[in-house]
Amino acid sequence: MKNQREMKQQIEKTPVLILGGGITGLTAALYLAQQGVDFILIEKHKDTSIYPRARTIDIRTMELFRALGIGEDLREGGKALAPAWGIIRGNNLMEALGNPVGKITPAQLMEAQKDMKSFAGKSPETVCRCTQDISEAILRKTAKKQDLNLRFYHQMLAFEQQENEVQILVENRATGEQYRIIADYMIAADGANSLVRKQLNIPVSGNGSWKDLLNIYFEADLELLVKDREFSQFLIDTPEITGFLLTINNKDKWAFHLRFYPENGETTADYPEEKLITILRHILGIPDLKISILKVMPWQLTVIIASQMRINRTFLAGDAAHTMTPYAGKGANCGVQDVQNLAWKLAAVLKHGAGDALLDTYAIERQRVGAYYAALSGELADENGLINSVLMLTKAKDLMGLPDYGYYSAAVKRETDLPFTYFIGEPGTRIPHLWLNESQTLSSLDWIRGQFVLIANSSEDWQVECDQVEQQLNINIQLVTLDDENIVEKWKTITHTNGHEALLIRPDDFVAAKLTSGNLLDVILSVLSK
Ligand SMILES: Cc1cc2nc3c(=O)[nH]c(=O)nc-3n(C[C@H](O)[C@H](O)[C@H](O)COP(=O)(O)OP(=O)(O)OC[C@H]3O[C@@H](n4cnc5c(N)ncnc54)[C@H](O)[C@@H]3O)c2cc1C
Repeated sequence: MKNQREMKQQIEKTPVLILGGGITGLTAALYLAQQGVDFILIEKHKDTSIYPRARTIDIRTMELFRALGIGEDLREGGKALAPAWGIIRGNNLMEALGNPVGKITPAQLMEAQKDMKSFAGKSPETVCRCTQDISEAILRKTAKKQDLNLRFYHQMLAFEQQENEVQILVENRATGEQYRIIADYMIAADGANSLVRKQLNIPVSGNGSWKDLLNIYFEADLELLVKDREFSQFLIDTPEITGFLLTINNKDKWAFHLRFYPENGETTADYPEEKLITILRHILGIPDLKISILKVMPWQLTVIIASQMRINRTFLAGDAAHTMTPYAGKGANCGVQDVQNLAWKLAAVLKHGAGDALLDTYAIERQRVGAYYAALSGELADENGLINSVLMLTKAKDLMGLPDYGYYSAAVKRETDLPFTYFIGEPGTRIPHLWLNESQTLSSLDWIRGQFVLIANSSEDWQVECDQVEQQLNINIQLVTLDDENIVEKWKTITHTNGHEALLIRPDDFVAAKLTSGNLLDVILSVLSK
């Protein structure tokens, strides 16, 4: 791994190396910063990706971005896309817009999943539409404002894991210089083709890659055409053309994903710009439309699930750990949620002497979630590689992303193996949401800002116990004592707790334990595997 050029360079040390400056890596940067953990982020490209890709930020991810203070920026950034809902199909877009039979509307989505209604009011957030080129730029800008250590245009060339460290060889692509970084831990957020996953020979499951598409990102003024007839996806499946058109800004930016067939000897060279424009005019149904091709990228429908998300000092996150088709809209969402789960655990180990076993709970908790959504995303692809919109209707609740998944692990004190009941404060589930003010701007989720929080129903002397934890473990537990009678009663009803009980919430919003006084130190020690 060493060479002459590199030997001359100073070796840098960092607690955490984040590999990849996509949505997962950038979110990891913000969460590590929130935890006060130093890191270096390496991204091989000069800038964040210009491809719009993910367009849906689900409810849980919006809760996370709310906590990072960027929820409103994302809604603002995505507001042009916001009205784009529903799936239409036809022989061309003009025809489909004129005859919106087959359009799946939000109302139908709600109807299709009756119990979604019972989910109303379970989160302070709603789904947000914002394309990934915009969301990544917002994340990067936020990180830059905090002066975080992001190194774009630096590429990891090789790495080696040792017992106590990870060594990484990096090239600064602007200068050609190579240098080494030694990290205590590495977060591999290096995407679907993860070099780290491959080099560590991590076994994978899933369908692999099975259909090829060309992502044709183009500009064409269709604003007046789609006004008041907005749609999210237009599906076309004719003998000549199979693919789907995605709305990017309801105005002049669109992405058409065209099925093409390398198995029949086709390559991207068979699709020069002129041919693509002819295809686009055909699928839009407007023969002389002015079209500019912005970018073309081949990609594959893929489901790959890594069997491990932790390998000693390396953690896979996002697409590196679970690559999925776009049809469940979960790839980016899972990546964001992965690293939020991991960041506080790394901080607990690096700064507060938590046991190494706490880091195992990252994989134990997140593997199941990633695998579930990856498999679902595969089921949602039909035999021609398009979204199965009928099946999608039956999965609408899952796709909205209310956090109705729970964690069984040593980082949760759960007395039962029974299935979870959600939104009532059961250990292993996300803290219940309760509006704390009339104007419905402040939620119980807002109590948690990356630290442990103890929510006490009574004035029993929990502060003494919190102080004891702070003295012994140097961990600050923020105590929330409910004193507004109205809120106390609502909270007790939601959480089925009595006046003597308290909920201990982890820094990632999940309930660690329900406890009575006298137990806090023991519970924290257990949650932290100390
Ligand atoms: C058409 C389409 C629509 C989608 N829609 C949705 C959606 O609605 N919702 C959703 O949640 N997801 C969606 N997805 C999926 C989503 O785009 C991915 O899941 C997401 O990009 C994964 O993010 P990531 O950061 O894990 O990986 P990536 O975005 O792949 O980022 C990995 C980064 O690592 C960098 N890197 C790799 N190797 C190195 C190296 N050696 N050195 C330095 N840097 C390196 C890469 O340059 C890259 O920037 C969609 C995808 C597509 C294609």
